Amino acid sequence: MPQFQRISLVHYHELGLKGHNRAAFEKRLMYNIRTLLEDAPVEKVTRISGRVLVMYLPDADTDAVSETADLLARVPGVARVSCGFVCERDLDTMYAAADKALREAGAFSTWKVVARRSHTDFPVDSMEMNQLVGAYLCERHPDKPVRMKHPDVEVHVEVVQGHAYIYAQSIPGVGGLPVGTAGKVVCLLSSGIDSPVAMWRMARRGATCIGVHFSGRPQTASTSEYLVDDIAHVLERFGGIARVYVVPFGDYQRDIAGMVPPALRIIIYRRLMMRIAERIARKEGAKALVTGESLGQVASQTLDNLAATNAAVDMQIFRPLIGSDKLEIIADAQKLGTFEISSVQAPDCCTLFMPRSPETHAKIADVEAAEENLPWKEWVDEIMDRLELHEYRCPSSYKSAKPAQVAPSAAQVGELSSLS
Ligand code: ATP
Ligand code: MG
Repeated sequence: MPQFQRISLVHYHELGLKGHNRAAFEKRLMYNIRTLLEDAPVEKVTRISGRVLVMYLPDADTDAVSETADLLARVPGVARVSCGFVCERDLDTMYAAADKALREAGAFSTWKVVARRSHTDFPVDSMEMNQLVGAYLCERHPDKPVRMKHPDVEVHVEVVQGHAYIYAQSIPGVGGLPVGTAGKVVCLLSSGIDSPVAMWRMARRGATCIGVHFSGRPQTASTSEYLVDDIAHVLERFGGIARVYVVPFGDYQRDIAGMVPPALRIIIYRRLMMRIAERIARKEGAKALVTGESLGQVASQTLDNLAATNAAVDMQIFRPLIGSDKLEIIADAQKLGTFEISSVQAPDCCTLFMPRSPETHAKIADVEAAEENLPWKEWVDEIMDRLELHEYRCPSSYKSAKPAQVAPSAAQVGELSSLS
């Protein structure tokens, strides 16, 4: 039985557009992948010009490999993941690897071989390899026609110095930029459907995301906090969250409810949340706040009310879902894997002390007048002293427990650079 080792090749288009920043972006993506694959059956991760090469342990089973490839496809910055093998530069071994790669590529009807030789020290050139590997596969798949234009599967055979890389299966990635390349943001994270999706969108643009969750505790149970923790564990798998600050907010809401006109309660809760989030952002060195609001979705999300909320802080607020429909957001939450968690009903500060008819067109002057009697400055100071911090594994803030891997040698880097 010929020996070949399983690999994934990670492609990253958008990084290619970044000109002289490219090296830093590649380094970051590489570091993120190494960190996120720490528990995967991986022997090494090396940077090669234009791609990242992931080599699996020889005894890694196919399920673990496909799980790892699926995870890689969801890491921000990854445009595509190809799966296959690395083997000796021996034609019989390469044929067998190509056949296995094609069989594992999923359902297909048409295919072709794309062979490339980057070192002339291998006697067979690209054209001949196309023909030889093609002929071998034709014999084994007589009912599957070859198609040169837009086949269902391309079997890639890349011969470099020392090895051959052979892959066919290709999974689209989430794209975007590696986490840690765009600075930090603070996301207001409820246990609802929208805010985890908003946070994920920012992570996909390279931001390091810090959550702040306002719990109804001690006026409610802590269910929403457990749900937020579950959501954070989903985002953590792809590096989408660094830490979450939990704020027991129930008593402040009770006090606000007793001191301001009912119609303005929600706006005033929101403004206090924003002020706390802003203080956390300054402490963390974050440069923006993020919410999951979508225009007109509920009473607090009208243009007037959003403006009244913005006016409480002196920091930019991003709302990545502002133009999205609920159904689109739900579809994204399902893809992300947070929808089911978010669908569990939990009393949090949103459900606490809600007025019967909230104001939909709040005037900033009225809101400020209502706030005059509130000791909100003292509240913010008090809350900042009582923040509860939960840490998650995020490559941009996480220090590996394992020793750093040795950087790839110049020869390894050169080996595949000529192919990209
Ligand atoms: P979500 O599904 O994200 O909770 P929603 O449609 O339920 O959103 P609201 O409850 O009005 O809308 O919340 C709007 C935004 O305010 C949320 O997307 C989130 O960013 C923030 N937010 C609301 N409640 C909380 C909370 N308890 N903790 C932190 N942020 C919150
Ligand atoms: Mg909500």
